[in-house]
Amino acid sequence: MFEKTLSELADALAGGEVSSEELTRAFIERIDALDGNYNAFITTTPEEALEQAREADRRRASGDAGPLTGVPIAHKDIFCTRGVRTSCGSKMLDNFVSPYDATVVARLREAGAVCLGKTNMDEFAMGSSNETSWYGPVRNPWDTERVPGGSSGGSAAAVAARMVPAATGTDTGGSIRQPAALTGITGFKPTYGRVSRYGMIAFASSLDQAGSLTASAEDAALLLNAIAGFDPRDSTSVEREVPDYRGELDQDLKGLKVGVPSEFFDEGLDGETARVVEAALDQYRELGAEVREVHLPHLGLSVPTYYVVAPAECSSNLARFDGVRFGYRCEDPRDLLDLYERSRGEGFGPEVQRRIMTGTYVLSAGYYDAYYLKAQKTRKLIRDDFLAAFEEVDVLMGPTTPTPAFGIGEKTDDPITMYLNDVYVNAVNLAGLPAASIPAGFVNGLPVGLHLIGNFFEEGRLLNVAHRYQQVTDWHRRMPENIE
Ligand code: GLN
Repeated sequence: MFEKTLSELADALAGGEVSSEELTRAFIERIDALDGNYNAFITTTPEEALEQAREADRRRASGDAGPLTGVPIAHKDIFCTRGVRTSCGSKMLDNFVSPYDATVVARLREAGAVCLGKTNMDEFAMGSSNETSWYGPVRNPWDTERVPGGSSGGSAAAVAARMVPAATGTDTGGSIRQPAALTGITGFKPTYGRVSRYGMIAFASSLDQAGSLTASAEDAALLLNAIAGFDPRDSTSVEREVPDYRGELDQDLKGLKVGVPSEFFDEGLDGETARVVEAALDQYRELGAEVREVHLPHLGLSVPTYYVVAPAECSSNLARFDGVRFGYRCEDPRDLLDLYERSRGEGFGPEVQRRIMTGTYVLSAGYYDAYYLKAQKTRKLIRDDFLAAFEEVDVLMGPTTPTPAFGIGEKTDDPITMYLNDVYVNAVNLAGLPAASIPAGFVNGLPVGLHLIGNFFEEGRLLNVAHRYQQVTDWHRRMPENIE
């Protein structure tokens, strides 16, 4: 059963081929057997999961089941889960048990999805390799000496090894798409504001957005149907109708205008990765799409802009972790200042501290104009580039990452090299657009992702474009060896 997609499992449940309890038990056993190799989970909740599964089976028996009732999933450990530890990958929150559910969690719970546990992640979602987690690095199921990407690396590895059919993630600057690319799965990031951020621990509030890591685009549509929509508890959540995303998947692509930003193919892109992307574009031509070159002239400013805006917002958001109200508190503080300093100094890891220091620096009185204000201006230029491109084309395509998965430890000494891994993904968050990464082939046995970017609220179109490709290719069906 584990090789089936979420949608296929939903059908199997609906057809009575399997019960949720059987399915849940099978995935729990798989996690027990495999996760020692990958470290994809921070917390597993087998007892609660089995209870939810039995409840789902009862719901189905009484005729009250929806498509997600009884399917097992996992949540990135950034989403607050009532009664279950929510660590955000940090020592700071190692002892934090949330008293409430994030809206994403609550909506999936109401839909009847069964939560198997909380997945590993970069500390406070800051990272591109899952090496900043306080719980240790996650290993890529395609090669355990390599990273799975980050920050949703635990969710990505868990789905890639089919320890769970689907998982939630968050994408502030690529953290769904980049790990999806490096682990050969489908990552989907909706438009900013499409999915509620309530109960999702804040990193950079103007960029953070929840989404999914799944085997297929159809699975992403199924999850998006459940989690999208207005939430009065998130002031940036958008009041706008939610279409039936699954219903839009099959539309013909004849005449679809695909734009390929030439800047995505500048130096820095691995040649083999470029060839995989070219082959995917050919596949789209065969499906009837017209592929043409477009330009995003300010793309080169996106990494520096992102690494000013995101740290600035994080330095403000993470001020709440002061040793008083949440999480870790140092031993025997001398006075209040000592309590703040040591709780934060001991509770946060080095990357989080680096971001907070960068953020407070760019926001400080003497430097605000030179850095933060300038970054807000370049952010606007980047957004305008995308809007101009969408005057000409329907979707943009390119590589998700410049190379396939890199080695564990390879980039940890040099934060700038690590940040450059985000060169194609950051811009999308700065603009607030929806985007996906889908498996498109391999280089030396390592998966390569195709990056799809849509205009605002064009999630349905994007999922349709991804789904049609997955109907004529089987990259998304490939699984690493040795996971049985
Ligand atoms: N790699 C980026 C960072 O480190 C993206 C993180 C994210 O999307 N959460 O900030």
